[in-house]
Amino acid sequence: MTSSRSDILVVGAGPAGLAAAVTAAETGCQVTLVDDNPHVGGQVWRAERETLPPRAAQWYARARQAKVHMVGGATVVYAPSPHELFAHSVDGAKKFQCEKLILATGAHERFLPFPGWTLPGVVGVGGLQALVKGGLPVVGKRVALVGTGPLLLAVGAFLMQRGAHVLCIAEQARRTRVLAFGASLAWHPRKLREAVKLKRATRPIPRQYSTWPLAIRARSQSLEIDLTRKPESAAAVTKTLECDLIGCGFGVVPDTVLARALGCDLNGEAVRVNDHQQTSIANVYCAGESNGIGGADLALVEGEVAALRACGQTIGRDLQKRLDRGRSFAQGLNDTYQLRDELRHLGQEDTIVCRCEDVPLEHLHPYGSFRDAKLKTRCGMGACQGRVCGGALAFLRGWAPDSVRPPYAPIPMEDFARMCADATT
Ligand SMILES: Cc1cc2nc3c(=O)[nH]c(=O)nc-3n(C[C@H](O)[C@H](O)[C@H](O)COP(=O)(O)OP(=O)(O)OC[C@H]3O[C@@H](n4cnc5c(N)ncnc54)[C@H](O)[C@@H]3O)c2cc1C
Repeated sequence: MTSSRSDILVVGAGPAGLAAAVTAAETGCQVTLVDDNPHVGGQVWRAERETLPPRAAQWYARARQAKVHMVGGATVVYAPSPHELFAHSVDGAKKFQCEKLILATGAHERFLPFPGWTLPGVVGVGGLQALVKGGLPVVGKRVALVGTGPLLLAVGAFLMQRGAHVLCIAEQARRTRVLAFGASLAWHPRKLREAVKLKRATRPIPRQYSTWPLAIRARSQSLEIDLTRKPESAAAVTKTLECDLIGCGFGVVPDTVLARALGCDLNGEAVRVNDHQQTSIANVYCAGESNGIGGADLALVEGEVAALRACGQTIGRDLQKRLDRGRSFAQGLNDTYQLRDELRHLGQEDTIVCRCEDVPLEHLHPYGSFRDAKLKTRCGMGACQGRVCGGALAFLRGWAPDSVRPPYAPIPMEDFARMCADATT
């Protein structure tokens, strides 16, 4: 087992983690930045160094210049204390010791169960983007994107660029709400520019509001999706589309595993932080989407704030202003794309909810909490450890996530045993 010690350990190398690591290192702290992906950048910027987008490349260059110790391909799977964490990687176990910890573990997609959502060819909208980036050919493929939020547009634009025929973007939010949110972007010029660019890029794609999926069926060579549209004060209209691939994305869920393992309080589904990104546990800070969904710009600002506070520095007026502005954007984003009640009732009795352990909705009826359901049905006990069904059940039933036990991701028992033997706390 390799071992390293630093003033500040940052977990997660997305925009929040990168900004936190750079800011802390530039104040003179010794910083280690660890991420489970071989490449830095998180969900939005993750790429080979040569193909990083310019903004990400600048942060990466600053990280190198400030001598941030970057450790890729290592998943933190055991945190006996905020000062001692263990990661698993292909080179074996790694131990990290630190004075202060910054959690920047991001978010993952939310899936909702409805008939057919587990069929081959139906994937998360972000997952579809990742598959195509990884080489999945989509030229000429008919794709439907369903769910909610700007990610549908970003992925729609990306798929068109790659030659896919995007048949529709079915957005569950109301058109009036989305338009009002668009108008509010006048206060966020950078976001406005991004939105205009995205709107232009996706102009050829038919976009329907107040629309959501009812069911997907497999045909011999394709998929068939029923979409229902329910405008305000009008009857619902259902139509069926034939396509080759379907991307579903009902927003994203903060990744709070590590924070919960350390005992940090939550605020709803996200890690609770104070105005300076400090969690309820001493010496543990949190930045980016693990403490609330707000996009990459807010994640960057929160990363800077968390790092400055962790290094005992004050927050300048300009940074505070950017933080306040980012939070107001996040509030608007979350209000606009809030999931509507109708989506709680899409699943049939035999619809699978936990796809790792094949648990259908009807088996969950007798239980009142995620823990109960887990103990009696194995829901959430599979390879993804509830990352998929947890987000769904939080929305469907209001179930809080279950307690976390190490290892937080599947690893060989001998590696975990070595970590336990080496833990000093
Ligand atoms: C699937 C998906 C696709 C997206 N695509 C787009 C897009 O195309 N355009 C866009 O503008 N926005 C996109 N977003 C939103 C965007 O990713 C976020 O706004 C932004 O990345 C948030 O930054 P972050 O630093 O908080 O988290 P992230 O960028 O998510 O970074 C968190 C990092 O922490 C790592 N991590 C988590 N747990 C551990 C652990 N235990 N050990 C080690 N590492 C860990 C993760 O692997 C990840 O690399 C997407 C989001 C998701 C979930």
